[in-house]
This record gives sequence, C-alpha cells and structure tokens, in this order.
Amino acid sequence: MAKLQLHRLVEEATKQGRNAPVIATKEMVEDIYDAINRAVFNGVLERPKIVVRDYTKRNMWGECEGWQRGSRWGPHYTAVIRIEKNFPNLKKLIAAVAHEMVHQWEWDKCGVMTHGPSTFFAWEEKLRSKGIRLSVTL
Ligand SMILES: [Zn+2]
Repeated sequence: MAKLQLHRLVEEATKQGRNAPVIATKEMVEDIYDAINRAVFNGVLERPKIVVRDYTKRNMWGECEGWQRGSRWGPHYTAVIRIEKNFPNLKKLIAAVAHEMVHQWEWDKCGVMTHGPSTFFAWEEKLRSKGIRLSVTL
C-alpha cells in the first residue's frame, strides 16, 4: 500500500466532518502514526507497539506507556501506545494519535511526560500548521 500522506488524511477528515463515527483498527492507527511521524516529527520516532481496543470503561482516548532500558539511568523508550477503538470522527482519532506521539517524543527525547509548555505544547504550532489541534483533553 502507498504511504498515507498526512495532508490527504486531514483533508479527508475535514470532508467527513464531525458526525462520522470511525471504528479504528490497528492498521489504520499505524498508518496515521507513520504519516504524522513523517510530516511532523521528521520520522525520528520509533513506532512502538500499537494497541487499539474498546477503552470506554477507562474513559480515555489514548495512552502512552514509557519505559527505561536496563536501569533507571538507561535510555527512555516508548513501549506501547494505546488508542480507543470508537471515535466520533476521524479528526478526533488523528488528534488522539498526535497527542500520544507528542508524549512519546517528550519521553523518548527528554525523559518527561507532561502537558506543559516546553515539551508538550512545543508541538502545538507545527501540528496546527498541518491542521491538527493539540490539546490536553480532546
Ligand atoms: Zn496527555
């Protein structure tokens, strides 16, 4: 399959609008991840295990799980990104994946996971330029 281009994906999401429920699959989220990685993060993120499941009971759209190799002084890496399966629309799904990827970048590169201005919202402008809104809650 051809590489999914982020601008085409965002275009499609805009076309579908707010009331177009999406049932996400692992493959779909992996494609979205790769597209955002190329267009926003210059491909520097290493795709972790992606788990897509019904997390309705946990009341979350996504979750990023970071670890350190070896000891607590070892390098940081992201082991898994979990994404809710049922989204009200494609735009929200893209935003959820982007949100968790910013957490991955923070963790892998800076060893922190925040919703703060210096590492989290550092990506707000770049994401906005691609038509993706970065916020603490979706
Ligand atoms: Zn968050």
